[in-house]
Amino acid sequence: MTERTFSIIKPDATRRNLTGKVNAVIEDAGLRIVAQRRIQMTDAQAKKFYEVHAERPFYGELVDFMTSAPVVVQVLEGDNAVAKYREVMGATNPAQAADGTIRKLYAESVGENSVHGSDSLENAKLEIAQFFTDADIVG
Ligand code: ATP
Ligand code: MG
Repeated sequence: MTERTFSIIKPDATRRNLTGKVNAVIEDAGLRIVAQRRIQMTDAQAKKFYEVHAERPFYGELVDFMTSAPVVVQVLEGDNAVAKYREVMGATNPAQAADGTIRKLYAESVGENSVHGSDSLENAKLEIAQFFTDADIVG
């Protein structure tokens, strides 16, 4: 089934000028970038985005990291896009990520792990709506 998922190229990757390299892995996997914008995430946006982790010990560090440099927010479209992008990203901890995945190739640590991808279709819809309107997405 054709789906849309939400992606963020995180500050560790934009800082190292890896936007194009990450996008190449995404496109080579058969996912289509149907919306994309480079933004400086605000503290309020990062807090809201990672609200589910508010009680975790790394929450403050995570919010600081996500606002430390520009990010690229994206909508990706394709067959089974949610699960496919999770596969393409690799495990949260790059030390456990499979060969060829974005995190294996580029992530620096479990915190600074280069990309975000939605973990369900329901969350994908909510996350896309936090950063894009329907008119921004051209499939
Ligand atoms: P994301 O939600 O960013 O796609 P994920 O779903 O693989 O990543 P989550 O468990 O949702 O992983 O964690 C969200 C983010 O919080 C991680 O991507 C990482 O940046 C950060 N994080 C997770 N665990 C840790 C940790 N132990 N220490 C520091 N940061 C962490
Ligand atoms: Mg997650």
